[in-house]
Amino acid sequence: MKHRIIFATGNEGKMREIRMILADLDLEILSMKEAGADLDIVENGTTFAENAEIKARAVWKCTGDIVLADDSGLVVDYLGGEPGVYSARYMGEDTSYEIKNQAIIDRLEGAREQERTARFVSAIAAVLPDGTVIHTEGTVEGVIAHESAGTGGFGYDPIFYLPEYGKTSAEIPIEKKNEISHRGKALEAMKIKLKEVLQGENHEDFNCQ
Ligand code: IMP
Repeated sequence: MKHRIIFATGNEGKMREIRMILADLDLEILSMKEAGADLDIVENGTTFAENAEIKARAVWKCTGDIVLADDSGLVVDYLGGEPGVYSARYMGEDTSYEIKNQAIIDRLEGAREQERTARFVSAIAAVLPDGTVIHTEGTVEGVIAHESAGTGGFGYDPIFYLPEYGKTSAEIPIEKKNEISHRGKALEAMKIKLKEVLQGENHEDFNCQ
């Protein structure tokens, strides 16, 4: 049986990235809206993986089939992992990232250089037609810059400095950012796992003993 993949997001930018990365699975890929599930989901988990699963399961309950969801954020070691799962809500959902980013820089005053480490984390959960779940995670390592730089990207990109490139992730070209992105890595890992699941199903279809 040919499945559909439904991705539990309302974000068109994410859908474009997801469609590109999962294209070679040769399955129909729908947003939750396209699948008729326009839900408002409360993300009350304490980890990225938990939140991804909460979103995927909520959509799966009304659509079935294979439902994927992601949850991501910035983890700053010196701040005990903050803003973490609260990245979007940190200092209030409506507070500008100019303010949020400056607040993080200020909170790192006094931190030694080697204490400025941080990472973007993306967790993806897939709920399969039978209700079982698979998880993958992708990360990008960096350090918190001393000042904001760059106009590309979004969110915390202007303060996320990538030592390898000598630039913040708001200063590198979008293609490069996508290539090394936490979400891209988590999605690639998920694609491998989904291929295994789908191949397992085909194998059973052709088993005539
Ligand atoms: P979401 O789970 O993908 O919606 O991301 C949650 C929040 O994490 C976003 O609102 C941003 O604050 C932050 N975030 C996630 N990925 C990135 C990124 O690639 N750059 C900058 N901020 C990000």
